[in-house]
Amino acid sequence: MTHWKKILQESVTTPEELARRFNVDCSALEEVIATFPIRINPYYFDLIKKVNDPIWKQAIPDPKELRDSVCMADPLAEEDLSPVPNLVHKYPDRVLFLVTNECAMYCRFCTRKRKVGTARMRITEDTIQAGIDYIRNNEKVREVLISGGDPLLLSDDKLDSILSRLRSIPTLEIIRIGTRIPCTLPMRVTKELTAILKKYHPLYINTHFNHPNELTPEATKACTLLADAGIPLGCQTVLLKGINDDPETLSTLFRGLLRLRVKPYYLFQADLTKGTNHFRTHTTTGITLMRKLIGNISGMAVPTYALDAPEGGGKIPLTPDYIIEKGADLHFHNYLGKLCTYPENGDPF
Ligand SMILES: *Cc1c(COP(=O)(O)O)cnc(C)c1O
Ligand code: SF4
Repeated sequence: MTHWKKILQESVTTPEELARRFNVDCSALEEVIATFPIRINPYYFDLIKKVNDPIWKQAIPDPKELRDSVCMADPLAEEDLSPVPNLVHKYPDRVLFLVTNECAMYCRFCTRKRKVGTARMRITEDTIQAGIDYIRNNEKVREVLISGGDPLLLSDDKLDSILSRLRSIPTLEIIRIGTRIPCTLPMRVTKELTAILKKYHPLYINTHFNHPNELTPEATKACTLLADAGIPLGCQTVLLKGINDDPETLSTLFRGLLRLRVKPYYLFQADLTKGTNHFRTHTTTGITLMRKLIGNISGMAVPTYALDAPEGGGKIPLTPDYIIEKGADLHFHNYLGKLCTYPENGDPF
């Protein structure tokens, strides 16, 4: 098998390469990629079956990215919530820790589009050490969420070193890695990598699949290696207009993930990130989709639909409202729309 680093080196990084592959006019894309870079490694590229399909839309730049007058560069106010560079401390007991600015593929809808893959995201050994020191000095931090960029693009040695420094902090309980690698470059998940990861349990991985076409034999192999290393796997899917905003696609995706031992964790409403407005659905669309999933497929396969509130407000679950009336009895609809009643007992607190 070709080494993952070699596959990554052969990524499409210019509109000319794209035009050669698909015989479409890509000249308008020069301007887009001057602001938002393109990188599509050959593995992910080969998942594209035709122009404008769900994989194409996730990976190929679109002139609409530059015409977005609604959204903002940093909608979650991550920069304001950073006590040290590249570490976001928003919730009391957990921090988001960015350890690389690179990904195996630059998703067009990325929340950190303003900086991933560019010099605007400056990560050095010094910023990494400063992040680790911050966690060490803040005993309220029980959990670190390692992200980027994509942490699994770091070399085995670099990852081993970061994980071992984090694991030496007695007050840190949980290590969570956020990575799209099992989806975008699954051959990066090797036996050597899982041997490193499993030294640092309890270690969780949340990956990121958006469409059933991404559930390939290679992705299956990557998830199997990780799950066999005892790593609980979750998935953070983004609800994307024209890509996965229909019930069949989501149901097939979530059931497929469960078969790979990946528990759908969040379905995110798209963030207000500049250059991504064309992917945003109405939240009523998301709630309607959730109503079609809940009860009809395994509860294990149903994620929490959530919106990350602007200005660092945090994640807000958006759930269909089943309750019709609250009183001595609770009146509600079930998943089939049937009216149900539950008699209450005593007073609420
Ligand atoms: C999403 C997020 C987390 C983790 O939230 P969970 O609900 O625990 O998954 C932590 N920190 C920041 C800054 C986040 O954006
Ligand atoms: S892999 Fe994640 S961080 Fe990287 S471009 Fe895609 S969404 Fe953004």
